[in-house]
Amino acid sequence: MITAFMTTSAAAPAKTDDFQYANERFADLQMLRYKVEGFENLSLRQKTLIYYLSEAALWGRDILFDQNGKYNLRVRRTLEAVYTDYAGNRDSEDFKAMEVYLKRVWFSNGIHHHYGCEKFVPGFSEDFFRAAVKSIDSARLPLADGQTTEGLLDELCPVIFRPDVLAKRVNLAGGADLIKTSASNYYENVSQEEAEEYYASMKNLDDPHPVMYGMNSRLVKTPDGQIIEKKWTSGGLYGEAIKKIVGFLNLARPYAEDEKQKEVIDKLVEYYTTGDLKTFDEYSILWVQNTEPLVDFVNGFIECYGDPLGLKCSWESIVNFKNLEATKRTEILSGNAQWFEDHSPVADEFKKEEVKGITAKVINAAILGGDLYPSTAIGINLPNSDWVRKEHGSKSVTIGNLTEAYNRSAVGNGFREEFVWSKKEVELMDKYADVTDDLHTDLHECLGHGSGKLLPGVDPDSLKAYGSTIEEARADLFALYYLADKKMTELGLVPDAEAYKAQYYSYMMNGLLTQLVRITPGNDIEEAHMRNRAVIARWVYEQGKKDKVVELVKREGKTFVKVNDYKKLRELFGALLSEVQRIKSTGDFSAARDLVENYGVKIDGELHKEILERYRHLDIAPYKGFINPVYTVVKDGNGTIVDVKVDYTEGYAEQMLRYSRDYSVLPSVNE
Ligand code: ZN
Repeated sequence: MITAFMTTSAAAPAKTDDFQYANERFADLQMLRYKVEGFENLSLRQKTLIYYLSEAALWGRDILFDQNGKYNLRVRRTLEAVYTDYAGNRDSEDFKAMEVYLKRVWFSNGIHHHYGCEKFVPGFSEDFFRAAVKSIDSARLPLADGQTTEGLLDELCPVIFRPDVLAKRVNLAGGADLIKTSASNYYENVSQEEAEEYYASMKNLDDPHPVMYGMNSRLVKTPDGQIIEKKWTSGGLYGEAIKKIVGFLNLARPYAEDEKQKEVIDKLVEYYTTGDLKTFDEYSILWVQNTEPLVDFVNGFIECYGDPLGLKCSWESIVNFKNLEATKRTEILSGNAQWFEDHSPVADEFKKEEVKGITAKVINAAILGGDLYPSTAIGINLPNSDWVRKEHGSKSVTIGNLTEAYNRSAVGNGFREEFVWSKKEVELMDKYADVTDDLHTDLHECLGHGSGKLLPGVDPDSLKAYGSTIEEARADLFALYYLADKKMTELGLVPDAEAYKAQYYSYMMNGLLTQLVRITPGNDIEEAHMRNRAVIARWVYEQGKKDKVVELVKREGKTFVKVNDYKKLRELFGALLSEVQRIKSTGDFSAARDLVENYGVKIDGELHKEILERYRHLDIAPYKGFINPVYTVVKDGNGTIVDVKVDYTEGYAEQMLRYSRDYSVLPSVNE
């Protein structure tokens, strides 16, 4: 699972270097570059391994586009054809608005906002679009067999221009049929009830080693009423792209760092070929045990946030290598994992007797692909299978060079000065936030997600649509609770016993106020990590109200968070951790629903307006994403690879057009 995103209150340290992190801006987005620190010092073998794995990482892009919505590839290809070939006035308002729209489609891997999931509102007219598409050579358009340009336009215009068509990518709002009201392309012609029944009938709750049913297929009702799974394999749905991925995995194989890593690659290839979910579990176990190599990678159907039922996994990839210096920090935490488990405020029956093999490391990303590109996580914890995690452990990573890029690009943006209550808190954050932000992520990843256990017989999916939010809350609360523990100073992880306050303050400020900048007025909070932060911040605020633990205070019409009692705040985090773990361990669906619906969803409209207004004045893009570096192999006269070079000069549109040209084999309609 993706376990951490950068928050809007990114730290702003004073350090600078001459690498250009910030790149272009459009809509609510800021593009950044990241530096692959240490790449030059890797061995030729490691560099070559990264090169081939990065090719495999880029070949899955179209899969994600199609998973995110059945018209996405058609929309993207049509827009790209207009963008490159249009001979009319490219300075017109319509053309410029279409360019922004295309850049957003690239960024979101589809026509819905990558975070809020709502469909983009185009800033150009349908008349312009129709005329522009008709003006270019129809051979450049993604026409189906026998389809005319007019036919394509009639198909795509409602998708782009009508607000009521495919309005949300993922709908989590209770009450409606979540599948029918979600535009993501994981189900065809089936209702939520049919899908739930289909998978419930597969489950055997007595099986200690259940596969993750449904994670690698589209569920389809055929015209004769049969419900079937169309699997994503090299011979099945998305086969053309999967064959390319497999090809590059096989090219990477000889450069693997040890025999085990070769087995990992072989197993992944076997799984891509057969689609067998038992093979996927075997692969996950091999992967989690393969901790020696410096270079590591994720490549496959991994994240389930795009499916309202949380079963279907989106395709993603990251290739990375260990940052040895920063990893020392996470090794201290995982070395003490059992101590943390034993001393947590959670009831004993929900604790793990034996915490197994949490390997935590800080990595540098070398390439991002699929659901991790261009918008990305800064923390990932895998595999997702509950029993594999319990019996074989999990790998937990924080991505050091991406965090660094966020921080460097935020220098001097005025955010703290606007939203932080007083100089005292600003100083606290200046002094400690770099350390405590990283530590929060480490605790969340290395210990939080790995802690606790389900009671025997509890269905891991029993919290349904609330499961992801509760899981994120559990990991965040674990981190918050322990940041203030004297164990942190004993282990030398924080400079002193005051440091945690920087994180407590920024967490409350973000959860109560500033994360709202990411939401369009009138909308609810939808995304699991944001719901989690709202649940935590608002719950402790409510519970501590009578003692004024945390206050919302006004100054000159502006709302601020004021923390009066950090010690009590910690106790409240501990109390909520205990309750959230109980909910998870016992599968208490109604308690999960109440907690999330009461604290994590609704927004006070007045407050929202104020925060947006203040934020607007700062002129900061609420979302950021990354342009990948470009790797090129250098060969000698015999065709032998003698070096791999990394380059950072490619522009955003240039990169996206290149990917669409060079890494695109899927048909526009995938059925
Ligand atoms: Zn997490």
